[in-house]
Amino acid sequence: MKTINDFNFENKKALIRVDFNVPLNDQFEVTDTTRIEAAKSTIIKVLEDRGAAVLMSHLGRPKGVEEKYSLKHIVEKVSEIIGVQVKFVDDCIGDKVAESIANLEDGEVLLLENLRFYGEEKAGDVDFAEQLSQWGDVYVNDAFGTAHRAHASTTIVAQFFPESKCFGNLLAKEIESIDKVLNNSEKPVLAVLGGAKVSSKITVIENILDKVDHLIVGGGMTYTFIKAQGGKVGDSICEDDKMDLALEILAKAKEKNVKVHIPVDVIAADAFDNNANTQIVDVNEIPDGWQGLDAGPKSVENFDAVVNQCKTILWNGPLGVFEMETFSKGTIALGNSIDKATQNGAFSLVGGGDSVAAVKQFGFAEKVSYVSTGGGAMLETLEGKTLPGINAILN
Ligand code: AMP
Repeated sequence: MKTINDFNFENKKALIRVDFNVPLNDQFEVTDTTRIEAAKSTIIKVLEDRGAAVLMSHLGRPKGVEEKYSLKHIVEKVSEIIGVQVKFVDDCIGDKVAESIANLEDGEVLLLENLRFYGEEKAGDVDFAEQLSQWGDVYVNDAFGTAHRAHASTTIVAQFFPESKCFGNLLAKEIESIDKVLNNSEKPVLAVLGGAKVSSKITVIENILDKVDHLIVGGGMTYTFIKAQGGKVGDSICEDDKMDLALEILAKAKEKNVKVHIPVDVIAADAFDNNANTQIVDVNEIPDGWQGLDAGPKSVENFDAVVNQCKTILWNGPLGVFEMETFSKGTIALGNSIDKATQNGAFSLVGGGDSVAAVKQFGFAEKVSYVSTGGGAMLETLEGKTLPGINAILN
């Protein structure tokens, strides 16, 4: 696996695909800088080698050129974080960019305009990728968030750098962390899968059964598993058409000797509302008119015991509707258990979908071993897919 540390960028231009798809408020201010900070060490390495960095990214989902999606809005924030005044050019291909590149000196950083102003980016257009390829001597992919897309800048462009392409620090770290969980893991291995629906996690569960010793199924998925086994789930979220699948998963898990842990009690509410009336009930006995919105105290205790006997922990998805304080306690307790296990030497990885939001909201980001930056990319990796952006560098 080639990384930027295998290259010396002196007098060279690194064409770096970063993921600066950051959230902006109405004043076009960056409201979460995580992704910019995550790319910092790669950019700094190039500058310290006395090379120049050409940064390319997408922002949002523009339909053609739309000013509100211009990357010019983030130039000052990127400059502040990198510690260098970043130059900007309001295009990503063409003469204007060629001129900016010609004027770019070692130690400088140039940010190109939003790649998705061109439909060719998402189409994976080869000519467009070739035009992008002119802007660097070495292609560096550091955008895990888009590594599952075969877009021009994430995958296709790599073919124009047969000998001089590599992973940036962030992407290398993502690959290493996933490998530590899925392939080179210390046993026992635990996956905690929460979130809303079985249907969005089913492929992950199926793939992960070959990799783990314990599986905690929580969140809204609980109720499909419970009803499938004959429990009463009241008005809880439940996918009736996935009940057979839930039973199949349980059978497969047994066959593979994977211990499945499902909540035994839940916080049930009489409405999907933070101020609803609540009661703690047996997961199999949820009254009609009530819905399970969080794991109950006994479940939390059970999960704590499981977490603390494991050496590798993957966490994807909350145990309840964590956005509402009343139903956030199960997720917080799980975070505390994983924190403790991590302090005792376990490797813990959080990622995929919206998991990261929960982890950040409750301050667990610094307490787990690694928080993945890619929602969809992480989910696809957990599903066992090889990501095109990663393949393009490896092959
Ligand atoms: P996901 O993106 O699949 O990880 O799902 C995250 C969402 O699942 C969060 O927005 C939670 O509010 C939601 N969720 C978790 N538990 C439940 C539940 N028991 N009922 C309804 N939604 C839930």
